[in-house]
Amino acid sequence: TKFAEANLHPIVLRNCQLAGYNFTTPIQAYTIPVIKAGFDVVAIAQTGSGKTAAYLVPILSKLMGKAKKLAAPRPDVTKLSKFDPRAHGVRAEPLVVIVVPTRELAIQIFDEARRMCYRSMLRPCVAYGGLPLGICREELGKGCDILIASPGRLCDLMDKPDLLSMNRVKFTVIDEADEMLNQDWETELTKIMSGGDTNEDADHQFMMFSATFPKGARELARKFMAKDHYRIQ
Ligand code: AMP
Repeated sequence: TKFAEANLHPIVLRNCQLAGYNFTTPIQAYTIPVIKAGFDVVAIAQTGSGKTAAYLVPILSKLMGKAKKLAAPRPDVTKLSKFDPRAHGVRAEPLVVIVVPTRELAIQIFDEARRMCYRSMLRPCVAYGGLPLGICREELGKGCDILIASPGRLCDLMDKPDLLSMNRVKFTVIDEADEMLNQDWETELTKIMSGGDTNEDADHQFMMFSATFPKGARELARKFMAKDHYRIQ
């Protein structure tokens, strides 16, 4: 399939083309229409299959239609010599949360998200263990629509309501779920998936990407995903 025929928001389509993506990979051909239609998805996918764009492209395409209304409040940085989000009460209220096992993967997805959000109203942010909390706070305070984070750091941030609110999260992506379960992050993943917009009409969408689909991952899917979720492999 061609991206041009996938019915994407024009900004996302342009950014795909700028990235050199013309034809969808097999996983993208499956996930893009299904995620766009509002379904939860479990996808068995390896790194290198194009799995990052497989969820970023449809999610961003859906959000960009409503970006003006939804984008996080931005501080007026022109008026501030040294910006201190705490002093101005700006906290991150992301619409999308992407959870990943490693800092390397977090940065890689952050780069892809930046490319896909280019010239849009949406701003991605990255947070992982080892990143000084001060820098994290500063980044989050600049406005955060898409948060890419490791599970430990994300849970720490969830405990700091002045920095992060999960109340607006409409898309939760668990990437390399099997890897995170191997690393014993099950409690954290449960906490993260329980967060987010819990309004009945919120249509909170869950996505899980994993190279294998072990018991722990199946349990998370059963617990949090809609019964009619798609399983793609
Ligand atoms: P991933 O599996 O998400 O780590 O992606 C692997 C690589 O494929 C990345 O370098 C992407 O930039 C690239 N990629 C993803 N989707 C496409 C596509 N549809 N066409 C060409 N390259 C792609």
